[in-house]
Amino acid sequence: MLTAIVGINWGDEGKGRMVDLLSEGYDVICRYQGGNNAGHTVINDKGKFILNLLPSGILRDGVVNIMGGGMVIDLEHLCGEIDTLSASGVNVTPDTLKISDKAFICLPYHKTQDILEEERLGSKKYGSTRRGIAPVYGDKYMKKGLRAGDLLDSGTLKQKLKDILEWKNITLKGYGYKEADCDDLVKWINEYGTKIIPFIADTSDYLSASVSTGKKILFEAQLGALRDIDYGIYPYTTSSQTLAAYAPIGSGIPGAKLNNVIGVMKAYSSCVGEGPFAVEMTGDEAAMLREAGAEYGAATGRPRRVGGFDIVASRYGIKMQGANEIALTKLDVLSYLEKIPVCVAYEVDGLKQESFPCGDKLARAKPVYKYLDGFLTDVSKCRKAKDLPDAAIKYIKYLENAVNCPIRYVSVGAGRDDYLVME
Ligand code: GDP
Ligand code: MG
Repeated sequence: MLTAIVGINWGDEGKGRMVDLLSEGYDVICRYQGGNNAGHTVINDKGKFILNLLPSGILRDGVVNIMGGGMVIDLEHLCGEIDTLSASGVNVTPDTLKISDKAFICLPYHKTQDILEEERLGSKKYGSTRRGIAPVYGDKYMKKGLRAGDLLDSGTLKQKLKDILEWKNITLKGYGYKEADCDDLVKWINEYGTKIIPFIADTSDYLSASVSTGKKILFEAQLGALRDIDYGIYPYTTSSQTLAAYAPIGSGIPGAKLNNVIGVMKAYSSCVGEGPFAVEMTGDEAAMLREAGAEYGAATGRPRRVGGFDIVASRYGIKMQGANEIALTKLDVLSYLEKIPVCVAYEVDGLKQESFPCGDKLARAKPVYKYLDGFLTDVSKCRKAKDLPDAAIKYIKYLENAVNCPIRYVSVGAGRDDYLVME
């Protein structure tokens, strides 16, 4: 059984929370893209954790966690995350974590370049997390990257780095910044890389063997469909593929077929960073929703932009993810609303449309709203569909019909058990 848990919207839908819940039925959990720009919040009997790099299955005993070759890994950040977990009593060992030898290393100069570029852009910035993600993926495609497997060949590592720096320093100097120093970088790599080496493995071998012995594998995505580099709101996307179709590739088993794609979709919209966001609320309306949903970035602490549920964008997200079922999260957050706004279409240049536009057209899209009855009841204690008030069931069913995908799970709180399954 191969299942992917992916974001339908702009990210922060609660994927980490759903992976933590559903990992119980799986043997292997695999992150297949992105880096420490992710922020997956997990709250369970072990405590509250914000995971940036480690798969959310790391908190579940008895599962093996993989960081796939599609990821980019800041070694210093990863060491910090492992230390934080062990301070909370969660031991990360080479038996519970395996890092692909093909994953790329995010180096300190990637972070520097990210910051320099956001500063250069000024008001036109992308809203990057400034953690080096776009530069490290850019270098990967320029064939100027270092991979985790390179850490295993200390004899050639320094020369590889020297060759890359000859090129990278042209860019850093172009920004008027000081050149990156090879010895400093080697020191950094030795300090953090040494701690990571025991975890490095050929994860393709491990996953292929897991598939052939019938193990259950869960793939965890970062961000959502609308931030995918190819199909998202380019250039306000991330720099990797957030789609389920990429899960087998980014994990190391490109030929494997997924059996199940669970799309995680929020009961309203939120968006961190820049870019077109047609349903964006402002003023008090936004402040109330942001507070009710505690919408502050898990990776950066930035206030998230918020809005009503967007059917146009979500339908597109479901199509691109190929989701066959949905986990609807944060329903409890809407309980204060008398009327719940739902964006049913966009108006672009005076014309109504229900398909998700591309490029500048999207930037001109205005939301067309319908208002559904609020449920004005605390639903956070509901554990069965029949416990939900009628208006909440109507809201769920309305969304289900509108996006044309069955809503199977409904999350009503951040804790592991705060959810119900729709019959
Ligand atoms: P991810 O990036 O998709 O894993 O999502 P984040 O962790 O960035 O954001 C989701 C936030 O909502 C986290 O703070 C979760 O603890 C919280 N959360 C998840 N599901 C629910 C829910 O059903 N209700 C409430 N109130 N909070 C939730
Ligand atoms: Mg997040």
